[in-house]
Amino acid sequence: TEQLRDTRIAVLDGLNANWGLKVLLDEISRRLETIRPGIRVSILVCDERDGRLYTGAAPSLPDFFNTAVDGLVPAPGSGSCGTSAATGETVIVRDIREHPFWDAYREIAEQAGIRACWSIPFEDSTGRVLGTFAIYRDEPSEPTQAELDLIGEFARLSGLAVQRVRADARLRQMAAVFENSREGVVITDLTPRILGINRAYTEITGYLEKEVLGRNPSLLKSGRQEPMFYQAMWQSIRETGHWQGEIWNRRKNGEVYPQMLTISTVRDGDGRPTHYVGVMTDISQLKQSEERLERLAHYDPLTDLPNRLLLLSRLEHVLERAERHCQQAAVLFVDLDNFKVINDSLGHPAGDALLSALARRLRGRLREEDTLGRLGGDEFLVILDYLERAEHAATVAEVLIRLLEQPFGLPSGQEVHIGASIGISLYPDDGRTVTELIKAADIAMYQAKEQGRNTYRFYTAGLAAAANQRLALEARLRRALANREFVLYYQPQIRTNTHELIGCEALLRWQSPEDGLVPPDRFIPLAEETGLILPVGEWVLRNACAQLKTWLDAGSPPLVLAVNLSARQMRQPDWIERVATILQETGLPPDCLKLEFTESMLMEQGDQAIARLQTLKELNLKLSIDDFGTGYSSLAYLKRFPIDELKIDRSFVRDIPEDPNDMEIAAAIIAMARNLKLSVVAEGVETQEQLDFLKRQGCDAWQGYLSSRPIPAAEFARSFF
Ligand code: C2E
Ligand code: CA
Ligand code: CA
Repeated sequence: TEQLRDTRIAVLDGLNANWGLKVLLDEISRRLETIRPGIRVSILVCDERDGRLYTGAAPSLPDFFNTAVDGLVPAPGSGSCGTSAATGETVIVRDIREHPFWDAYREIAEQAGIRACWSIPFEDSTGRVLGTFAIYRDEPSEPTQAELDLIGEFARLSGLAVQRVRADARLRQMAAVFENSREGVVITDLTPRILGINRAYTEITGYLEKEVLGRNPSLLKSGRQEPMFYQAMWQSIRETGHWQGEIWNRRKNGEVYPQMLTISTVRDGDGRPTHYVGVMTDISQLKQSEERLERLAHYDPLTDLPNRLLLLSRLEHVLERAERHCQQAAVLFVDLDNFKVINDSLGHPAGDALLSALARRLRGRLREEDTLGRLGGDEFLVILDYLERAEHAATVAEVLIRLLEQPFGLPSGQEVHIGASIGISLYPDDGRTVTELIKAADIAMYQAKEQGRNTYRFYTAGLAAAANQRLALEARLRRALANREFVLYYQPQIRTNTHELIGCEALLRWQSPEDGLVPPDRFIPLAEETGLILPVGEWVLRNACAQLKTWLDAGSPPLVLAVNLSARQMRQPDWIERVATILQETGLPPDCLKLEFTESMLMEQGDQAIARLQTLKELNLKLSIDDFGTGYSSLAYLKRFPIDELKIDRSFVRDIPEDPNDMEIAAAIIAMARNLKLSVVAEGVETQEQLDFLKRQGCDAWQGYLSSRPIPAAEFARSFF
């Protein structure tokens, strides 16, 4: 009894000292062998993974025997131990030589010199077999009951050792997981008071274990959540044993952060709650990248305004609310005037700087509930929520336009002025859906542009009809070039003194199958806007040059051909080369060609125009300023351009001799041209009186109905050559 007690103490000490299982089982075996000389002990342990029996300790048995037994599969009839492990029963084999369980092992038993084997299984608390405790003897024999009781005690001690060593290993693994987990873990009792935390908890919250032990986990509360939030959380834990969600907490350093938190109830063997475990992940990074993505998807990076996507969804919302409350709302479509010119002449970085400065200025003046966003390019949209009266939308439009009156300072130090045209549509009058309202505002914006820019217009049904017509016209215009529906008419230019024919102006006509002969005023502005003027203008130049070349070759007088150019053509980077190519291809001598520009085209392009006109002049052709007097060019400015001719606008000729003002202007232009050594042509001369006046003033040449309307080429040749 005493030695049994000593053995127990030794085993427990060994367990506390973290002895390995092999050492513990060896100790148990040797102690029993000492108590009972003449026996040899073998402890086999059942492997958790493959279920086979492996030698845990057998200090007095030869190695060859242990090796042969290693890996024994528990099964009835498979030796004493295989049988006892499989059945959970004690197996007594009195004489190995005669016992069928030993058939497979008889020979090695013989070699090891053993004749009897008694095997007692040991189990864990749930009754699962953990291994076998076997006694071998050299002579056939059976144990007494006292012997069996003693062996049973040692078997139980072996079972205890196996269980404890395994549980320790598992605990160490768990502790490693707990400590090394990237998730913060906190364990509390039911109070709840913190009983333990892991390293990640400290990393996330900034609190050390000693600072939180015994405290309520609510020490992390940020104050961002309502008491209701926590009530719902605890209710869920009480009812389901579990809660999961996102929660704002506060770190030790005061910083508030979002975390994902899972709280679970730990229960004892009877299902009674004993602890809570909280597992938390810091999701501030995740939240930040979510927010960044959200911003990228919904805000324009340049101006930081809502982008098209967000604008559309805001408008959708505003309309839903307006419908529910029977309220009005308005959409303002804002398009900058001549932004392209700024972008082209000052460069895109300047354009970008202007857009963001402008966005800041406009944003600052709107009500909180109104939305300003950027649709793209130089187009902005303003959504006015809770509009009391339609006039309010007009007031906002006026405010916006006035805000732009102050120039913008660019980072380069330059100052630029920019205007805007604004179209307004109203919910519910002008449309009930997002698409309808934006389209209506867009149409109204175009109207504002047409009516002089830097102004606003409300949408009307009439506007829609006009917009539709424009669209239809554009479609037909696109087909016109391919279908050869364009023709050129020619109008003679005559020298005032000698009455001789000195040239002609080529004027474009559209022979439309639907509308007959369409005058250029009705389609050229649209062609300019859509860019169609580029191919059309090139067609005009090539055809007119070819026509004059044909006439000259056929022996016509030496004429100069005037061709009108549009601003858009002049903005093409390679247009000078294009003119040169056409002259080359048609074979027309360059000094027979005169290009007509308007003042505004020159003003718009500024100093750049001077350089380009100079290059053009090197081709040896002539340059004329059309519609002169209607623009704002100063004399000093004009002097810098390499031009040959001024063309007095028809409006100053029309009211001669009724309007003395016009007569003075016409006379002044002629005098000025002389001073600048430019020739002057008057256009729109319809009466002899007008011609006489111009002649007296010294005007060099004229064109007008008095001599001829513009006429087709064939007719021109018949009448004048
Ligand atoms: P514009 O260059 O000022 O052309 C003169 C216009 O005055 C022509 O109108 C001509 O028919 C008209 N006209 C000539 N004499 C008289 C007259 O005695 N009395 C009156 N009432 N009118 C007269 P049209 O042909 O309708 O052309 C209108 C405008 O269209 C032109 O004005 C020009 O700016 C533009 N345009 C015409 N052809 C072309 C072209 O090939 N390219 C470009 N870019 N523009 C063109
Ligand atoms: Ca002209
Ligand atoms: Ca003109």
